[in-house]
Amino acid sequence: MASRVRHDDMVQVIRGRDKGKRGKVQRVDLKDSMVHVEGVNIVKRHLKAGAQGANSQGGIIAQEKPMGLWSVMLVCPNCDKPTRVGYQVLADGTKSRVCKRCDQTIS
Ligand SMILES: [Zn+2]
Repeated sequence: MASRVRHDDMVQVIRGRDKGKRGKVQRVDLKDSMVHVEGVNIVKRHLKAGAQGANSQGGIIAQEKPMGLWSVMLVCPNCDKPTRVGYQVLADGTKSRVCKRCDQTIS
């Protein structure tokens, strides 16, 4: 099944702590229905000095956590609003995505 959201799409978070934030899709994991969005859902972890991956003083690392596809909405590049996506079959048989707000094709 084709995904509503693809790599490099702009999406807006519609649920949770980061609601309202926008970011670019870095990766979509269809198997788990998860999406990695740049700069969204950052989890900070405190590392103790000497822990694996930490420098000698320890510290904080920020990590982007994947979030559910259901927590984001595609931002239409034409009308710049989070929108539902429809599909349209073109004359040559290819499927294209359509913004339900402005009816413009989304590449
Ligand atoms: Zn639109």
